[in-house]
Amino acid sequence: MGGISKFTRWRTATAERVGRADRDLLVLTIGMTAIVMFVNTGGNIMPQVVRSLAGIGLPPDRLLSTAFLLNIALVIFGWRRYRDLAEEVAERSRAEERARELAETDPLTGCLNRRSIAPATEALIAASSERGELVAFIMIDIDNFKRINDANGHGVGDLVLQECARRIEELLPERGLLARLGGDEFACVVPFHAGMAERIDEFAERITGAVARPVPHGEQTIEVTVSVGVARSDGACDPERPVDAAELLHMADVAMYQAKKAGKNRFFWFERPMESELRFRSELETAMRAGIRKGEFVPYYEQQIDLESGTISGFEMLARWQSPRFGLVGPEAFIPIAEDIGVIGELSERLIAEALRDAQGWDPRLTLAVNISPVQLRDPWFAQKLLKLLIEARFPPSRLEIEVTESCLQENIGLVRSLITSLKNQGVRISLDDFGSGYSSLAQLRTLPFDRIKIDRSFVTAIPGNRDSATIVEAINSLGEGLGLPITAEGVKNKAVVEALKQIGSFTAQGYLYGRPEPAAMMRKRLSALDLLCDEPAAAAQEATVPLSGAA
Ligand code: C2E
Ligand code: CA
Ligand code: CA
Repeated sequence: MGGISKFTRWRTATAERVGRADRDLLVLTIGMTAIVMFVNTGGNIMPQVVRSLAGIGLPPDRLLSTAFLLNIALVIFGWRRYRDLAEEVAERSRAEERARELAETDPLTGCLNRRSIAPATEALIAASSERGELVAFIMIDIDNFKRINDANGHGVGDLVLQECARRIEELLPERGLLARLGGDEFACVVPFHAGMAERIDEFAERITGAVARPVPHGEQTIEVTVSVGVARSDGACDPERPVDAAELLHMADVAMYQAKKAGKNRFFWFERPMESELRFRSELETAMRAGIRKGEFVPYYEQQIDLESGTISGFEMLARWQSPRFGLVGPEAFIPIAEDIGVIGELSERLIAEALRDAQGWDPRLTLAVNISPVQLRDPWFAQKLLKLLIEARFPPSRLEIEVTESCLQENIGLVRSLITSLKNQGVRISLDDFGSGYSSLAQLRTLPFDRIKIDRSFVTAIPGNRDSATIVEAINSLGEGLGLPITAEGVKNKAVVEALKQIGSFTAQGYLYGRPEPAAMMRKRLSALDLLCDEPAAAAQEATVPLSGAA
């Protein structure tokens, strides 16, 4: 790889220079000694040999001859020693080179690793500043890599990493560096002229474009995208102090995080205000983790009204965060974070447990609906966990509905189907939430045995004045009738919508017309006024007969 080759070539050259210097000294010593002795003894003995051969002198002195022969042996010995040593030095430098390569490169992709990118970056910054250039540190993170790994196995994950490295490497300019920082994170370091930052824009765009070409694997192809953050070496916090690799990495990381947040598969340059946003997010995460432990997340309830009879048929539980610091926070703000930081399962289970306790006091005809995140449906133990909660609360499964959105059905449909089947076998009902908002809603209806369709509120809210929305709601109603599925209309905000719905068919309705979602205590008051409380949870629990053995 160009990234490694440039850096390691420099290290190799240095190592070779050191090895050669040792060897030269040895050669010089042996050579000098041999020559001095050879000249000395040879200078004495050779005239005697010549004279003796010419018959004009005595044979050479025995002692000198022996010394001369010894000297020849020494020269041969010295030469062989030189050869062995040269071989030894070469071998040692090869071994050192290999050890250094292992320490400095990532064995999977052959890129530099996290440890070696820092000195290499600093060397590049120094070299570039001598040429009047800056350096761009480009952080590249594969989107949803965990999902690629989970769905296809780690072998395929490795293949994707190697392919990404190869594609980025192909685009790397002269003197550029490429490292794998670990997991699914890569970094490129590229010199550029201060006035030509658009070159880096182009480079980042080419990276996102090249990686986004599907990765072939056997019969199938794997879709990969990356989020990219870029920081420049003149963007240090303290302009007096030269930027170092750690600061550049941090800045690029912050920018990359913004790219993820803005929808992934894009690149952002680092800007200072991003940092405070990130700090806020990290404070939010900490507060959320603590809030879950302290029970700050509570269920709110939205009524579901049977339009034909005008009575309450049940409630949808909607999560709220009563944060002492941030006030009452809605789920659209915290559910995505809970999914990101891996606490959605725990959060949802606590909320469902509490909702089941609340629902024990309701009239047994009332149902409870809960929203389930796609992340939870990736947990093979999800069905068992939910059934355990039902048993602990002694709540009849037939009164529980779980709401899943189309995004739950996008991946690993085999696992989702087996989870849903286990739950259905125990009597839990399944609703397809936000129907119509996704692009493949109709197809999704066939993937799982749903018990209910919930029409997305965007169609319902618009019915009175908008003929198209009314037509869509009519079509969904016919579909529901055809499939024998009851339909809930969400987002019923006024009487005109109710009248329009009644003209179309028979619906269950939810929406602000019947009040905003409310906490358990208020909901109990409402039910009490309607004589819909049953304060003998044991009676309701009689129906709860879920054998754990059948789970999942
Ligand atoms: P959703 O399941 O579609 O829930 C309905 C949302 O629409 C609720 O927002 C509700 O307050 C709002 N809504 C009801 N009637 C009207 C109306 O007439 N007009 C308008 N504009 N809105 C109305 P909320 O409570 O903010 O929940 C938002 C989303 O958060 C929910 O959408 C659901 O997808 C998700 N969510 C809520 N609780 C949980 C939870 O415990 N787990 C998971 N995974 N998701 C949850
Ligand atoms: Ca819902
Ligand atoms: Ca919905």
